[in-house]
Amino acid sequence: MDYFPLFLKLDDQPVLVVGGGEVAARKVDLLLRARAKITVVAPDLIESLAGLKASGAIAHIEGDFLPEQLNGVRLAIAATDKQAINAWVAHQAERRNILVNVVDDRELSRFIVPAIIDRSPVVVAVGSSGDAPVLTRRLREKLEAFLPQRLGVLAHLAGQLREAVKARIEAPAARRRFWERFFDGPVASDVLAGRVDEAAAQARLAEEIRATNSAERPPGEVALVGAGPGDPGLLTLRALRALQNADVVLYDRLVSTDIVDLARRDAERIYVGKAAGVAHVPQEGINDLLVKLALQGKRVCRLKGGDPFIFGRGGEELEALAAHGIRFEVVPGITAAAGCAAYAGIPLTHRDYAQSLTLVTGHCKGETDKVDWDALARPGQTVVFYMGLGHLENILTQLTARGVPAERAAAIIEQGTQVGQRVVTGTLETLGQKARDAAIESPALLIVGEVARLHDVLHWFNTSPRQTELNAFAFSHEGRLSA
Ligand code: SAH
Repeated sequence: MDYFPLFLKLDDQPVLVVGGGEVAARKVDLLLRARAKITVVAPDLIESLAGLKASGAIAHIEGDFLPEQLNGVRLAIAATDKQAINAWVAHQAERRNILVNVVDDRELSRFIVPAIIDRSPVVVAVGSSGDAPVLTRRLREKLEAFLPQRLGVLAHLAGQLREAVKARIEAPAARRRFWERFFDGPVASDVLAGRVDEAAAQARLAEEIRATNSAERPPGEVALVGAGPGDPGLLTLRALRALQNADVVLYDRLVSTDIVDLARRDAERIYVGKAAGVAHVPQEGINDLLVKLALQGKRVCRLKGGDPFIFGRGGEELEALAAHGIRFEVVPGITAAAGCAAYAGIPLTHRDYAQSLTLVTGHCKGETDKVDWDALARPGQTVVFYMGLGHLENILTQLTARGVPAERAAAIIEQGTQVGQRVVTGTLETLGQKARDAAIESPALLIVGEVARLHDVLHWFNTSPRQTELNAFAFSHEGRLSA
């Protein structure tokens, strides 16, 4: 960020605007709304400015800009249509340490004026440091449409009762929850929809404040949230909300920082995943930590990669919470199989190739494991192995031993849905070697089934250099094989 964003309080502060045309008039309009004390310097004024002058809303110095007009001024705006004059104003303002904006010239400007969405007292400002004004305008339009017209009324109402809430509910965390409940509640939606007038809403809010038991410590709760396979765009709206409501976020290795960053800025973040070579927090420890935090009255967001109920041990964590009577909710997420398959262009079922889908943990130990290999070997299905990379050879061997043809298609997807996604396709016979050649690393998902062939035609995501390299490599490899 090259600029420091700020809202200036200009109440009664002297501001000099140089220029008397349309552009100057637009700036004057904004400055008036901020109740600045405006002097316009210009030989002539357009009609709207002349009107403001006549009504006494602005002062006017008729004539050319002179440096001494800047004496005692807080802020200056150069808005003439002559570049040389604007530059002169900027130079003089800079010499006097006065903040200056030169319209349409960010080089000469000490500050720039963002596009705003005005729901006073709520104001949303959008800027691109001057790089992309059209983009900023588009964003502004979107936000205009998105932000309720009566947002300002709601904020104003909250402002009037802020002190009363502070007096009644002492603990800051409890207060924050009160306001969250309020903004999500019926009074707020009535206000936004214009169904009540401000006085009535105020009375209802005052009643809610009285009814709030300030002594009661709000009970903690846990949201067990699936964060999806990596792309933050695959987060659900509910997941986003749980993240933003949380006092504490506990997250795993598979959850990308982009997603953890969506939590409230002052939320505590606790990493409970494995780090290479370092002993990680054992499951028991995580369960205990969740219970402890919730009993402290915290709102906890337990973030897991993919879906919490699919190879996520989410069930175990909830059992611990249930045993202590702690409130919880579960937010499903897009599991790796769904995410990786979609982003690799591999439909998990297909009328011609697969009528059923099985999700298996590849964390299996050969003959002694509990996996029903015969069932997995049957035709007409897609089998997805999670955590299978370390046992890839074993999995492929077991399937071949159960009679799956060596030419059965299979694919490995590394870092699915993410910028670094790579897909390696092959057959039961070739995939092991190909994955080794490509040095595929965890997290990676193995898909076994004829549907994997569709990747060639249906792949759409990702032009990462790593994948391109892989494709080139695959071609030369195939070439060598057939030679
Ligand atoms: N609960 C998670 C799975 C946790 S098990 C879910 O529903 O997706 C961890 C395994 O998931 C990894 O070993 C890998 O096989 C798979 N996985 C998770 N995210 C992945 C990703 N972005 N790309 C490839 N595989 C992924």
